[in-house]
Amino acid sequence: MAAVQLSGIYKRYGDTQVVHGIDLHIDDGEFVVLVGPSGCGKSTLMRMVAGLEEISGGELTIGGTRANGLPPQQRNISMVFQSYALYPHLSVYDNIAFGPRIRKEASTSFRPRIEAAAKMLNLSGYLDRLPRALSGGQRQRVAMGRAVVREPSLFLFDEPLSNLDAKLRVQMRTEIKALHQRLKNTVIYVTHDQIEAMTMADRIVVMNAGRIEQIGRPLELYDRPANLFVASFLGSPSMNFAAGEVVSTANGVALQLGDGAQIPLQGANGVNGTIAKPGAKVTLGVRPEHIEASNEGIPMDVEVIEPTGAETHLYGKIGGASWCVTMRQRASIEPGQRVTVRFPGQHMHLFDTESGRRLG
Ligand code: ADP
Repeated sequence: MAAVQLSGIYKRYGDTQVVHGIDLHIDDGEFVVLVGPSGCGKSTLMRMVAGLEEISGGELTIGGTRANGLPPQQRNISMVFQSYALYPHLSVYDNIAFGPRIRKEASTSFRPRIEAAAKMLNLSGYLDRLPRALSGGQRQRVAMGRAVVREPSLFLFDEPLSNLDAKLRVQMRTEIKALHQRLKNTVIYVTHDQIEAMTMADRIVVMNAGRIEQIGRPLELYDRPANLFVASFLGSPSMNFAAGEVVSTANGVALQLGDGAQIPLQGANGVNGTIAKPGAKVTLGVRPEHIEASNEGIPMDVEVIEPTGAETHLYGKIGGASWCVTMRQRASIEPGQRVTVRFPGQHMHLFDTESGRRLG
């Protein structure tokens, strides 16, 4: 088991810097997910922790030991990749036993570990099979079995579920989380999928363009995104936004949109302070599931209706921008119909339009 400390870590390829001074402490036993759009530097960061990529600057410690120059095999880590990287001509057992054999361990020493890992990963009945006779999920489990028998102090997962179909992805997500709850090992998990990040992480690190945008527990980030990037990245369908200017009204303050519509801002963050004062250029964000249908309120002309079974998404225009409203109950609404909606104050998020930062 190991805590991991990254201090001022950066990465340059020639003249191009792709990771800009990352500071991050990961506790022993913690499951941390690095999430962000493609190209934001999350794999590069993980590969530097693994020792597969040289660290251009800053300091990395694993289990309290400086690891910057350590070769990968001396870092006591196991890595699971998107491509399972199994040996096609070796059985499941031999694939899992590959590491211990390379290290010339006695089979009497590693056999119990392999059998225990196979049992834990539901592979006991498949140990004699070749990888080609397994499903995608089973192959991914073999890759995990290989990682588990090394008994590493740190597990690294790089988009391990990207090659699986949607249903299997959901199933494996739960299995990896259950595995972590059993082994209580330190995990760094890279994904571009915000649902994976939300459902699996103890803490999420949201990255963008080689920098950390926010670190926190999944629901902390969901409920209090620090900026517009995090607000729009987490959540599906994503948060709705409308930019405008704060104006005074008889009841307090409102957001005046480009088309003249006004949205009352009572109860929103920053409104009771002095930040969202009249004249301020702010962006309002509201998650689709927090919008309520009401008899009076802001009109929305419904253009598209998407029933998912559990809920219904209504898409239409508010203040000239496309908004989505999620309804839990089934509604007999048709495209072209006008609905009125309201936004509960505690679910309105206000951001400074220029800097993107959350107000208050
Ligand atoms: P992510 O994992 O978030 O998709 P990466 O870490 O793979 O992003 O890449 C981050 C940035 O570094 C990208 O702009 C990518 O083009 C660049 N990059 C990655 N590897 C190299 C390399 N070997 N040489 C030059 N640039 C690279």
